[in-house]
Amino acid sequence: ADYWKSQPRKFCQYCKCWIADNKPSVDFHERGKNHKENVAAKIAEIRKKSVQKAKQDKKMCKQFATMEEAAAKAYEEDLKRMGLEGGTCTSRAKAETPRAQTAGPASTASAASTLSTVSTAYPAAYPAAQ
Ligand SMILES: [Zn+2]
Repeated sequence: ADYWKSQPRKFCQYCKCWIADNKPSVDFHERGKNHKENVAAKIAEIRKKSVQKAKQDKKMCKQFATMEEAAAKAYEEDLKRMGLEGGTCTSRAKAETPRAQTAGPASTASAASTLSTVSTAYPAAYPAAQ
């Protein structure tokens, strides 16, 4: 008698409603005008949020870049100090110093491009992941 209660149900987070968890019901629901409108609204909302997040991440990136720069400088100082004090480290320090200088801007640029890829790809991929 309670058979209907044990029917698996699927929650549509776009429409905030429950649907029977079987292919025809889900297909019927997802083809519905109401559902499509809700999905579109959700995607617009996610896109807005991801843009805000990207802005935040870029701010974070700037902080990291500054930290990296400071770390690279400290590292350079260390190398100079080791070069002066150690003697045997002099040649290694000279070889590695230019690499430490170029690593900063290059890594910042690649991080920024990764961010923009993520923020544009995510909303498009979102419905497919459901
Ligand atoms: Zn729905």
